[in-house]
Amino acid sequence: MLDILCNVLGAAFLLPLGMAMGSFFELTADRLPRGESLFWPPSHCRTCGHRLPVDELIPVISYLAQHGRCRACDTPIGRGVPIREALSGIALAAPWLIVGCAHPMASLTAGIVVLVAIPVVRVVTQRRVRRIA
Ligand SMILES: [Zn+2]
Repeated sequence: MLDILCNVLGAAFLLPLGMAMGSFFELTADRLPRGESLFWPPSHCRTCGHRLPVDELIPVISYLAQHGRCRACDTPIGRGVPIREALSGIALAAPWLIVGCAHPMASLTAGIVVLVAIPVVRVVTQRRVRRIA
């Protein structure tokens, strides 16, 4: 019983942490290939330049609250962004939910490997698409 509670509480902590890390990886995968800084300018809409306030920076939830569009110019935001953010959260939380308290290092290692694999796969597939196009 205590293990189940430990697993659920740990996963509840790791889910938003993984989503936040996925959001950062999303930014990294978007900006680094363009040679842009990771820290400046702050997060903004690529179409209108609208800087995102704190309430527009919450992974997945902000996307859903804004119906997948920029609040300033109504430009659609790709569905892949919240999907990859959610997958990142699930990648980190799911192993802990299953065996986290019994095998913490194994579950964190598995979660981190998948978490890092998501942006790597994105960058590699983007490069292939650019070569083909
Ligand atoms: Zn905009």
